[in-house]
Amino acid sequence: MTGPGTETGPGPETRPGTATVDTLLQGYQVESTVGDIAFCGVNLIQAPDGAGGVRRIVVDTGHFGRGVVLRRALAERGLTASDIDVLVLTHTHWDHVQGLEFFDRAAVMVHPRELDYITNPHAEDFATPAWTKAVLDLYDVRHAVEGTELAAGVHVVEVPGHSPGTVAVAVDTADGVAVVTGDAIQNALVARYRRNALVFWDEEQANASVRRLVDMSDVVYPGHDQPFRVEDGNEISYLTKFSFGLRRVTPGMPGLTFDLEPGLRPRLFPAPPGWMDSPPGVSA
Ligand SMILES: [Zn+2]
Repeated sequence: MTGPGTETGPGPETRPGTATVDTLLQGYQVESTVGDIAFCGVNLIQAPDGAGGVRRIVVDTGHFGRGVVLRRALAERGLTASDIDVLVLTHTHWDHVQGLEFFDRAAVMVHPRELDYITNPHAEDFATPAWTKAVLDLYDVRHAVEGTELAAGVHVVEVPGHSPGTVAVAVDTADGVAVVTGDAIQNALVARYRRNALVFWDEEQANASVRRLVDMSDVVYPGHDQPFRVEDGNEISYLTKFSFGLRRVTPGMPGLTFDLEPGLRPRLFPAPPGWMDSPPGVSA
């Protein structure tokens, strides 16, 4: 291995292991009796760009209602949305893509199967609004496929199943391989049981994707949970503490209820066989 200061190895600006992952917005597995809160994790990857600068990649945008806190999170780091070079959408569910318009300069990257799918989402997919394609058509979307290199030590991993074209981003950090998974791994229980919590495409593929991501990584940045490690013995070790506040609601308020369901109860809405092969209304 080539060490620092040697003349033959890659310079520090391109050496793998120098990329970082920084959570801009935490992801939460919080649901309500009056609708889906759907707070996904929004993560910033920073890696040397090979020219003495920094390449900044944001994975997933959150939904529109989180714009104020997203801008605040960027400002706390001395950044604005215009400093982001690349946006990777792990998939096209509304809660991951609706913040797209906050980023005015970033190249937008999505898996091609996801782009095909949004022309005709299946009937039970309640997370893909009919307007999704119309929104993405406003952008010059580039393809994110297996192995696409986003920066030195940062590349795309195909992890289908939750949706047809779900991708994750693997990052070679100083602390090992981190994976930013979107809903390929929604939360720590999914990693622990190797079962996806919510499937709109293919359950077998979804669970194989969970296994792949857990096996290849040291740290998981999940879709709707705090980042964690899966330790020996399959124990979950969170990197950060849970922190979530409600305003204008107090514990004693009449009608307020709490329900913490124990365990993992996957919800399955797989696509009908052949759905992508012969979409209705499209002649061969
Ligand atoms: Zn999703």
